[in-house]
Amino acid sequence: MIRPILRYGEKPLHTPATDVVSFDDGFQQLVNDMIETMYAAPGIGLAATQIGVPLRVFVIDLSLGRSSGQLIVMANPTFVTREGTQLEEEGCLSAPGFNATVVRPQRVVVTGFDRNGVEQTIEGTDLLARAFQHEIDHLDGVVFIDRLRGIKRDMMVRKIQKLKKSGKW
Ligand SMILES: [Zn+2]
Repeated sequence: MIRPILRYGEKPLHTPATDVVSFDDGFQQLVNDMIETMYAAPGIGLAATQIGVPLRVFVIDLSLGRSSGQLIVMANPTFVTREGTQLEEEGCLSAPGFNATVVRPQRVVVTGFDRNGVEQTIEGTDLLARAFQHEIDHLDGVVFIDRLRGIKRDMMVRKIQKLKKSGKW
């Protein structure tokens, strides 16, 4: 089932999530919904907080579902390694129409659990490293706009507030 994606300013999106404790049928349904919602958007990543579920799980597929074996489901992720920096333009399904250059690590190693509760460790460089950091931020209640500083951030937040007032957000 495709779930509505929350937008910047909606409270659950800005609230840190808690660990997944059960990999039961309900969790499997949640993961299926997240995958379906990500592909339908379409997006390369989606965190549970973006559909209002306060659990530490995200999905990533850099191929947008075009090639098999690219889908990553990660629960309770933690960084083992974060190194280097990259500066690239970034967007978010929770802030459609907005993009900004965000500083991210160039390489990360993330450990956590797959959808069946089996431990997994995945290395990501470049875009995958960026996606990992972006999605783990979501689980901490952080959206990329919150990572911006000064005028750039203020302008974006003001534009969003204006859209909200006119009912377009
Ligand atoms: Zn996002």
